[in-house]
Amino acid sequence: MALDIFLDPNYPNFKEHGDPVCSTTDPEIFFPDKGNKDTSHYATNAARRMCAGCPYKAPCLAWAVEHAEIGIWGGTTAKERRSHRRHLKSKST
Ligand code: SF4
Repeated sequence: MALDIFLDPNYPNFKEHGDPVCSTTDPEIFFPDKGNKDTSHYATNAARRMCAGCPYKAPCLAWAVEHAEIGIWGGTTAKERRSHRRHLKSKST
């Protein structure tokens, strides 16, 4: 993650409602090892559960869709967000 994202005025304010759950959790679960299907599946589901109750879910997801982030953001995988972007692009053409 490039540090200059913190200078972007559109970067979500992840302090507005207290610290997000992911800030106090092992960050590895938000970046599952694609080479290990078992741990990747477990980590993805654990991350999704944390995101489900997060007050930053909407802005987090919007940022990740717009900036093609990797890992779990807003309860979605990078693959799901790519699919969403393709869908949006197809609707706009
Ligand atoms: S929605 Fe975003 S900020 Fe909230 S726990 Fe998930 S990854 Fe972290």
